[in-house]
Amino acid sequence: METVVHDPPAAFSGDGSKVGGWWHTSQGRVVCDLCPRACSLHEGQAGFCFVRRNEGGKLVLTTYGKSTGFCVDPVEKKPLNHFYPGTSVLSFGTAGCNLGCKFCQNWEISKSRQVLEILSRRADPGEIARAAALLGCEGVAFTYNDPVIWAEYAIDCASACRELGLKAIAVTAGYICPEPRAAFFRVMDAANVDLKGFTESFYAHYTLSHLQPVLDTLQWIKADGHTWLEITNLVIPGANDELADIERMCTWILDHLGPDVPLHFTAFHPDFRLRDRPPTPPATLAAARARAMALGMHYVYTGNVADVPGQSTYCPQCKQRLIERVGYDITRYDLCTGKCRYCQYPIAGFFREQPGSWGTRRMVVDPSSVVGRGAIGREGRA
Ligand code: SF4
Repeated sequence: METVVHDPPAAFSGDGSKVGGWWHTSQGRVVCDLCPRACSLHEGQAGFCFVRRNEGGKLVLTTYGKSTGFCVDPVEKKPLNHFYPGTSVLSFGTAGCNLGCKFCQNWEISKSRQVLEILSRRADPGEIARAAALLGCEGVAFTYNDPVIWAEYAIDCASACRELGLKAIAVTAGYICPEPRAAFFRVMDAANVDLKGFTESFYAHYTLSHLQPVLDTLQWIKADGHTWLEITNLVIPGANDELADIERMCTWILDHLGPDVPLHFTAFHPDFRLRDRPPTPPATLAAARARAMALGMHYVYTGNVADVPGQSTYCPQCKQRLIERVGYDITRYDLCTGKCRYCQYPIAGFFREQPGSWGTRRMVVDPSSVVGRGAIGREGRA
């Protein structure tokens, strides 16, 4: 068995392909060791994620240096509520996914093979980091599709960010094998991990993957202690909205990760192959949040709905509302040196004395233009 580990960043070739890490050969095939699917690929064949391919007996990442586009977003949109609130992050994704979620909210880029032909934006890691710095961003977020499947590109970008004092953020389902897990998360300053449900049957039926590797990732991040961790749970009517399951999930989080990991219950909207059920009622999210907090979780939020109380941060000790959010706008910020201004209880996370003021803006940018000409892109509402 030949095992190849990830090399240090190579010079960017610009052709969108790079020999990847974490694979071995077996019986004339290339076996990908990046995620638990362990795709075994014959010559020319792509994996389940359709971006990692056997080319000439080597595993190649075909989307290195390519993107579907870049936007400056509020960090709260990732969502991260305890990581430099109010700041902006340069966000981008590529194509493909290693899960098969029937409810995917980004399926145009995660599941459409045609997207490979329209990966129009090209940017090398150094250029992305420089653009983020010029734009005044706190860092760069690897999002829109799961960065695990383009780990080499994300790692190189994170390393380039670190050289400029910027933060690297991963938005991921956490479905990754142990060796690449360590390499990937050790360069990430923050991560939002999507815990999609809390039963193996849900994971198998709705995501075509398994629960345990995701739980392993969550525990690894927490134990390693290097990456700030928040969790998202998309609540889908009739699929994973049983309060008993939500209670089991919260109990597991409390037992294995502790009460300080922020948890976001977000609303489902009918999409992709799951259009036969309604959007999540706000009352369902509120009930999940109330149950999680009753069990002892300190920071629980609702998402994808208008809910100022459910999206604000409270002191776990004196219960004062410390960070009030109206959408992505911060309208109250009662922290002092990261502690509650009223009772000095330390709030988990990373906070400055003043929040950022990026608000709800969403700005499409082209890193090449930003770096080359200082051009700034179109602004919109997130
Ligand atoms: S990363 Fe892609 S190619 Fe590799 S095992 Fe997972 S789905 Fe298969």
